[in-house]
Amino acid sequence: MTTEALNIRERMRLQAADRDLFEQAKAYAYEYMDHVCDRSVFPTEEAISRLDLFDEPLSEAPCDPGEILRSLHEHGSPATVAQTGGRYFGFVNGGAAPAALAVKWLADVWDQNCALYVISPVVSRLEAPCERWLNDLLGLPSGTAAGFVSGTSTATMCGLAAGRNELLRRLGWDVKVKGLFGAPRLRVVLGAQAHATVFKALALLGFGREGIEEVPVDDQGRMDVPRMPDLDGCTLVVAQAGNVNSGAFDPLDEICDRANRAGAWVHIDGAFGLWSAASGSRRFLIRGMEKADSWSVDAHKTLNAPYDCGIILCKDREALIGAMQATGSYIQYSEERDGMLYTPEMSRRARAVELWATLKSLGRTGVEELVDGLCEHAAQCAEQLRAEEFHILNNVVFNQVLVACDTAEETQGTLTGIQKSGECWCGGALWGGRQVIRISVCSWATTAEDIDCLVATFVKARAAARTNDS
Ligand SMILES: *Cc1c(COP(=O)(O)O)cnc(C)c1O
Repeated sequence: MTTEALNIRERMRLQAADRDLFEQAKAYAYEYMDHVCDRSVFPTEEAISRLDLFDEPLSEAPCDPGEILRSLHEHGSPATVAQTGGRYFGFVNGGAAPAALAVKWLADVWDQNCALYVISPVVSRLEAPCERWLNDLLGLPSGTAAGFVSGTSTATMCGLAAGRNELLRRLGWDVKVKGLFGAPRLRVVLGAQAHATVFKALALLGFGREGIEEVPVDDQGRMDVPRMPDLDGCTLVVAQAGNVNSGAFDPLDEICDRANRAGAWVHIDGAFGLWSAASGSRRFLIRGMEKADSWSVDAHKTLNAPYDCGIILCKDREALIGAMQATGSYIQYSEERDGMLYTPEMSRRARAVELWATLKSLGRTGVEELVDGLCEHAAQCAEQLRAEEFHILNNVVFNQVLVACDTAEETQGTLTGIQKSGECWCGGALWGGRQVIRISVCSWATTAEDIDCLVATFVKARAAARTNDS
């Protein structure tokens, strides 16, 4: 019988039983892994041009899965960014811990929805230790609640929602009943270099840009605490552990002390920097952070869990649940952990499985070594670039390095050359009005030789930019 004669259910039954299909997926994945460290970091123009192939109308008839897989590997794999290799330094991303990757393959087959314990007991029982381990590893107040979300953007929104609702509750206003219109006015105080996603979260929660009180920052992007306005019990304070460009940390100890005295709510955006709490040698950067009320952090950045894995941590469990809880006659809560109590989503993928595997495979000392390694590579990078007479514009305290050449044109030309080289990839930004190249060391896979390669690429690209200029 030809497959054309089968209905879709019969076809899918055959596909599910087709071990060759899944073996082929595995073979393609191995092929990818074998070459990811030595291929062009950014896809070539040729690889990108072949993506036009995907720009086709939806087929009327079903398509063979083997063919779909082959096409994706042949045309899709070469057009990926080699983010899991050791020479990607763009934005602030992260590598993928091998243990977590393997576990993710298995968990993909489970395809669990972790909204409720009764939907997936196993994921509930993996989320619970993740929460405890994170409290322990990061030195958070015991009982701090964790919600597992897509990333720090969402985590920040959750923390600020909990804070907003709790401050209003203390003022006698139940925002879930009465809404925001007509509510007592809350204030928002943050550093002038708060991350774009903080402003987005605030806007989603009803705080427009005009009402936000921005605190001036120093040359590293840190909040200048003496210039902070007086705080009160109507204030949400958003501090930062790790400036997205410089990697600098706000003076969290002082900020939390002031906020706590005033009865304000402090949220810390620690997307990549919160992990400094797990390192004996970097913990000083984040001193006092345990005095905040909520924290957002990504496991898919510094910790190298695979995408996507963000975490909201909230000291007041009831405040987070109060902001996130949904009710309905068919929603069956249990005595066990019900994940959707802590997140905006109901259905969610089981990202805690990978988080659990990442933490377990590294252990406490492994996390510390990982964090320290990223910082040491960033320091190596700064030192070698300085020796080549590049300008390093930030204090390299964590994993971020900001680089400039003698002129803005030369910096821009060098950046373009780096991005086209395929040897490595960096992004750009403006820092204090000046064009810079950003280096973010984020992956466990990066070696000292990768940093040598990065520096050599900088030198070569600058030389080419100078030749082009003259
Ligand atoms: C990356 C980042 C974010 C956003 O995190 P996502 O995981 O991309 O949502 C927020 N704040 C800082 C400081 C970041 O580095």
